[in-house]
This record gives sequence, C-alpha cells and structure tokens, in this order.
Amino acid sequence: MLLEAERICVSYGKVSAIRDITIRVPEGKIVTIIGGNGAGKTTTLRALSGMVPLKSGEIRFLGKRIDGLSADKIVAHGIAHVPEGRRIFPNMTVEENLRTGAFLRRDHAAVEKDLADVFARFPRLKERRGQRAQTMSGGEQQMLAIGRALMSDPRVLLMDEPSMGLAPVIVEEIAQIIEEINARGLSVVLVEQNAELALELADMAYVLETGNMALEGPAHELHDNEHVRAAYLGL
Ligand code: ATP
Repeated sequence: MLLEAERICVSYGKVSAIRDITIRVPEGKIVTIIGGNGAGKTTTLRALSGMVPLKSGEIRFLGKRIDGLSADKIVAHGIAHVPEGRRIFPNMTVEENLRTGAFLRRDHAAVEKDLADVFARFPRLKERRGQRAQTMSGGEQQMLAIGRALMSDPRVLLMDEPSMGLAPVIVEEIAQIIEEINARGLSVVLVEQNAELALELADMAYVLETGNMALEGPAHELHDNEHVRAAYLGL
C-alpha cells in the first residue's frame, strides 16, 4: 500500500472533525473521498499532508509512519497537496509559482526537466509563464496549482475540490488531466463535492458523513448504491 490512514481522528479545539477514518491508497490508483459540506473531506486531506495534527490514529507511507512529521518532510516523501481554492501566489508569475513547488529539491537538472514537462502538459502555462498568476482564469489557476504540485516530483497527489467554481467544459479538461497524470503512474486522492465526476474517475471511493466513514468500496459499486444515488448524485 502506498499511503494509508488508519483510524485517524482530528479535532479543532473541542470540535471533532473526523473520527476513526481509515483510508487506503494503492499505488497507481485514484481514490476519491466524497461527502457533503463539513463532512470532513478537507480535514482528511490536511491530515494526510501533515497540515493538521492527529488526535489519534496512524498514517503510513510505504509502510513507514509519517504522522507527526512536518508538512515539508511529507512533501519530500512524495505527497503533494493541491489545496482547496488553489492557493496560488497571485503576485508571482506563473513560472515562479511552479518553481515554489520544487523548493525542497536539490536535483536542479531534474527540476528543469519537470518544469519543461509541466509546460508540455499545460501549454497555456507556458504561454503565460511570465504573467502574474492573478491575471489567469479560474481554470488556468487550477492547472497552475496542479502543475506546482507536480513540481515536487510526487508519488501521490492530494486534490481538494479541483472542479470547484469551474465551467463544465473546464471541469472536463481537469478530469482529463487527472486521468493523464494517473496514467503516468501517480496515485491520486480526489476530494470532490461533484460526486458524479469523482465516481467516474476513481477506482475506490469513500463516503464521509459528519466526520464518520459511512460507506466505502469500488467507485462503480458506490455509483450504483441507492443511498449514494439519492444523497450525492441527485438520482
Ligand atoms: P467542505 O466541502 O465544506 O469544505 P469538508 O467535508 O471538507 O467540507 P471540513 O472542512 O474538513 O469538511 O470540516 C469538517 C468539520 O470541521 C466541520 O464541522 C467544520 O466546521 C470543522 N472545521 C473545519 N476547519 C475548522 C477550523 N479551522 N476550525 C474549527 N473547525 C473547523
């Protein structure tokens, strides 16, 4: 197993956000976490990338404990986070934003190669490499956030609501990018409110409800599940 969280609990002060959540991310697979507002999806991703401390439970990467490590060390292990709302640096150029993704790396030649790869994958980022990031559209900013995460040379990409606020045609484009990235061997943990999209893309799915794990299974099975259809697919 590439990445696994075992019975993790996270609280914000006295507020318990997630309880006893177990998630397994196999090498090369897309795993999705769906659920309503406030279900704990973002908190789960933040726990996986070391941005919030665990109250209890364990997180392992390739069998080794990583909970308790700093967020930097977790990035260095190969876990990259594409945060909710993109969080790009608005006043920096596109290229500067991308280079921040590689700030821990000392393999300079490989960084230049990865930058060339990101530009090949996202031609619009190449065209706009010298432009300030805030001048880009929402879809371009999402691509920039993904490109920046790829610059850390990750094994697994944690993506928080990549479709949020984007027009359907751009959402399609982002979905294709996720599939391409995965086809090149990267594992993906995809958090989405857009359950239809998420269940289409993913191999495995987890459903969170008010901080608890409600359901889990192969994505196509959850897609056909009565409760999931009624609660998340509007069917
Ligand atoms: P959304 O889709 O709305 O982002 P989510 O499923 O990602 O929801 P979380 O953001 O993880 O859910 O929130 C889980 C619970 O933790 C919610 O009850 C939320 O109010 C609470 N929470 C989240 N962040 C904080 C915080 N910084 N301080 C206090 N409570 C928080």
